[in-house]
Amino acid sequence: MGGPSGTCVPWREFERRIAFEDVPSAGAFMVFSRGRDMFEVARNFAHFFAHESCGFCTPCRVGTSLLANTMDKLAAGKGSAYDMQRMQTLMRVLLSMSHCGLGHTAAKPVVQTMAAFPDAYERRLKRLDFEPAFDLDAALATARHITGRDDDWAHIVSEEA
Ligand code: SF4
Repeated sequence: MGGPSGTCVPWREFERRIAFEDVPSAGAFMVFSRGRDMFEVARNFAHFFAHESCGFCTPCRVGTSLLANTMDKLAAGKGSAYDMQRMQTLMRVLLSMSHCGLGHTAAKPVVQTMAAFPDAYERRLKRLDFEPAFDLDAALATARHITGRDDDWAHIVSEEA
């Protein structure tokens, strides 16, 4: 509802109301049959936002491209559960740090379809239980020391923290 940056309403929630109080449409909605692959729909939207990003601010310019690249990685059968976590993190970065509404909502189609149609994502994952062996936060310790920064924003925060 409301275009690529709107709300994804799965068939299980068809009792919801198209209204400002529930699901605002802004006059635009798309209907996909159950035969459609919602992962591919979201991947298409991810590329749309990466293309539409004007590049003014880094979170959106880089974040939308990372999102589209990650969806391509999953489509190629090279993704993992870790990539799913990273996309959730990207959504938070885009939402909190982008300059305008395009960046704020760019990850919505991915994150919402991930929640509503988990099977569409999980069947593409190489391994559901993959954990990266490389500790990026620890690897950045020298950089933090050189720059004299050790605040929360200078750390990579894990999803479990
Ligand atoms: S959030 Fe808006 S201003 Fe920033 S790069 Fe994206 S489209 Fe441009």
